[in-house]
Amino acid sequence: MAQDRAPMVTDDPRSATVPPLRAGSHPVRPDVFMHTVFVNTYAVTTGAGLLLIDPGLEVMATAVRQAVRAWSDAPLHTAVYTHGHVDHAFGLRPWLDAGERPQIIAQENCVARFRRYHLTGGLNARINQRQFSLPEPVFPDRFDWPTITVRDGLTQRIGDTEVRYHAAKGETDDALYAWLPDRGYLFTGDLIIWSAPNCGNPQKVQRYPLEWAEALEEMAGLDAEWLFPGHGLAVQGREGIRAVLTETAAYLRSIIDQVLERMNAGQEPEQIFHEVEPDPELAKRPFLRVNYDHPKFIVRNLLRLWGGWWNGNAADLLPATWEEQGRQIAELAGGVDALVARGHQLLDRGDLAMACHIAEWATRGHPVHAGAQELKRDAYRARLEAAGETMTQGIYRAAMNDAIRALGGEPEAPRRRLAL
Ligand SMILES: [Zn+2]
Repeated sequence: MAQDRAPMVTDDPRSATVPPLRAGSHPVRPDVFMHTVFVNTYAVTTGAGLLLIDPGLEVMATAVRQAVRAWSDAPLHTAVYTHGHVDHAFGLRPWLDAGERPQIIAQENCVARFRRYHLTGGLNARINQRQFSLPEPVFPDRFDWPTITVRDGLTQRIGDTEVRYHAAKGETDDALYAWLPDRGYLFTGDLIIWSAPNCGNPQKVQRYPLEWAEALEEMAGLDAEWLFPGHGLAVQGREGIRAVLTETAAYLRSIIDQVLERMNAGQEPEQIFHEVEPDPELAKRPFLRVNYDHPKFIVRNLLRLWGGWWNGNAADLLPATWEEQGRQIAELAGGVDALVARGHQLLDRGDLAMACHIAEWATRGHPVHAGAQELKRDAYRARLEAAGETMTQGIYRAAMNDAIRALGGEPEAPRRRLAL
C-alpha cells in the first residue's frame, strides 16, 4: 500500500493486508469520511448537506458523530441503513438529540426487522451475548425508524448529487446498497465484509446466499471506481472492485451449486453438510477469510431455506431427550466414568468433534458428575483454541463456561472483546 494513501483503502484487494479490528477515522476521499470501529460509517458531502451511510453502533454513536462533525459541519440531510443490524442502524440518536432531522432511508423489510427485534429482544440479547462473549445480555429496544422505505429501488437527488438505492438480500432480507453514479462510489453495506460471507450464522434467522450472489454480480455491472464496504477496507479501482464482487459471488455460487446438486439427488442433510466444501482457491483471498462465519454454516442455511427442519435421521423425528440418550449411552459404556475416559482419549488424539459428543452425552446424562463436566470444559477449551471464527468461538466458549460454572468456577472472558 502506498505511503500517501489512507490506511483503510487498498487498490490490490487480492493481496491486501488484513485490516485491524479498530482503525479510527479519516477522510478516504475529499468528499468521503470513513469511521471504522468494527463497522464502517461513512459521511459523504453533497451540495445540500451530508449523506450518512450506516450511523453505526449505539455505544459508539457519540464518538462517531464527534468525528464526523470535526470533519464537516454541514447539516445532516439523509441517513441510510444498509440493513437493520445493531452495528449499522442504531447510531442516529445523538444526531437527532442535537436537533437534526434527516431523511432516514432503509429497505422496507427493515421495518419488519425492528418489529421482530421488539418481539424477540430477550432472545437476541442472549444470542449476541453468546456470539460475542459479552458479560451480559444486551440488545437495543429503541429504534430510529426509517422515514422512507425502499421496496426495489429508489433514486434520490441531494443537491447536485444523485444517489441510487437498490434493495437486496444476503446476510439479511433488508439489505440496501447505494450507488452514486456521478462519483463512481458504491456503498455495499454487509454484502462485502472482508470475511467469507456471514451467510450461515448458526443462531440467527434465515440468510440468502443465492440473492447475495446475484446482488454482488449486479453491483459488479456498475463498474464502480470506489467500493465502500460495511466492514474492512475500502477498495479503489475498477479491476480490484470487480474481483472482490465477482469472486465473492463465485465463492457463494460454488457452495450453492454443490448443495443444490446433492439435495436434488436426494442426499441426506448430514451427508451434504459433511461433503460440501468452499472453493479452495477463492478461500485464500484476503477478502474471503474464514474468521467470522463458517462456510459449513452456509450449507446449513441452504438446507433450511430449501428443505424442512428434519435432519434425515428418523429417530430424531420424535426423539428421546438428550438426558435419556446420555444415560443410556453411559450405561452401555459401562458407566459414566468409562464414557469420560474415552472422551479424554479422543481429546488426547485430537479428535475434538467426537470428544465434544462424548462430553455432551456424559454431562447431559449425568450433569452433577464432576468428571463429566471437566471433560466438557477441556473438550470445548480445545475446540475454542482450534477455532478461528467468531461464530464458533462464541458458542464453544459459552459451552466451556457452562461446564466451569457447573464445577463452581468463574467463567472465562476472551482476551479481546467487542464493545457492542
Ligand atoms: Zn455489519
